[in-house]
Amino acid sequence: MNIFEKDKEYIAGTYNRFPVHIVSGQGSVLKDINGKEYIDMGCGIGVTSFGIADEEWQSAVIGQIGKVQHTSNLYYTEPCVMLAEQLCLRTGMKKVFFSNSGAEANECAIKVARKYAYEKRGDNCYTVVTLKNSFHGRTLTTLAATGQEHYHELFRPLTPGFVSIESGDINALENLASEQIAAVMIECVQGEGGVLPVSHSFADAVGTFCRDNDILLIVDEVQTGNGRSGMLYSYMNYGLHPDIVSTAKGLAGGLPLGATLLGDKVQDVLGFGDHGSTFGGNPVCCAAAISVLSRIDDGLLEGVRKKSAYMKSQFLDADGINEVTGLGLLIGLKTIRPAGEIVKDLIKDGVLCLTAKDRVRLMPALNIPDALLKTAVEKIKAACRQA
Ligand SMILES: *Cc1c(COP(=O)(O)O)cnc(C)c1O
Repeated sequence: MNIFEKDKEYIAGTYNRFPVHIVSGQGSVLKDINGKEYIDMGCGIGVTSFGIADEEWQSAVIGQIGKVQHTSNLYYTEPCVMLAEQLCLRTGMKKVFFSNSGAEANECAIKVARKYAYEKRGDNCYTVVTLKNSFHGRTLTTLAATGQEHYHELFRPLTPGFVSIESGDINALENLASEQIAAVMIECVQGEGGVLPVSHSFADAVGTFCRDNDILLIVDEVQTGNGRSGMLYSYMNYGLHPDIVSTAKGLAGGLPLGATLLGDKVQDVLGFGDHGSTFGGNPVCCAAAISVLSRIDDGLLEGVRKKSAYMKSQFLDADGINEVTGLGLLIGLKTIRPAGEIVKDLIKDGVLCLTAKDRVRLMPALNIPDALLKTAVEKIKAACRQA
């Protein structure tokens, strides 16, 4: 059996992989088993923030692996505390809970919101309002939070206590029975949903609604966080003040790490025994994240915004592209040709891209060299143009 056949034989059938067998890479270039090279415009779905096998990232990881790779949360280790300090200093949040994935970071956010509301307003106040077309994860609770019916169908009953409203529908927001609502949870840019940013007026309305009604604002920064949007976190583009921020994907640059950041109001909600994770705060993952975070400074973010502006200017008015959306280096293209076909053609042409719903989604490394970005952009434009 070759690897494709063996995968089919032994791996649960949840993924529709492209027939590309990747063996190595360097920076924004991936190499397959035949030696063919690809420019990486997907970063493992926004995970490898500084590219593949980046040297600074490697030395942080290898350095920690050589000391201690895991301890559990029964003991103290430096990387997890240092990372939490950095996250708080850079966001104004007060405390951090570490987990291993985006879904878990959201699960923690929801637990915190429920406990806060329960203690403050009693046992009828637990509903979390999310947006239609959102994506918050694959556990039964984060699926319930995900405002897309088709993900729900086969897995009922889901965790109760979630309602979703249309992004942008300020009336729907204001008509909610606020006394029963614990939190509103949004993505500032719906990544999986098609790279759709919320409008500034809606984000303002959500912020005001939450503040006026003592409802917690949770921002899901799993995909948009850690420099991806051109700011450290995407809510900073909107002037929002979330009570809880969840993040994961790009945080540790390629190792599994989720973080739930807790603001002023909720910093002391979780007490001993309320929540936990065996792997959460793993020293290797946290050492990787410290290295990633330390590089996301003003200069790097300026570079992200410049690369973003370059990409948008290239795609705007390009043949076969109807709309360009997104923030920073999370860019969506509404194309005339089906996005899936474009992505397949681009694989042949040596560029790896993502889709999101009916759009092409681009998430290159935050430090992708301009020359590689230019080559990729030219090829993407050509693939969108083809009849
Ligand atoms: C990917 C994603 C998740 C889920 O993260 P996992 O690490 O796959 O559990 C949650 N929210 C958003 C916005 C995401 O993009």
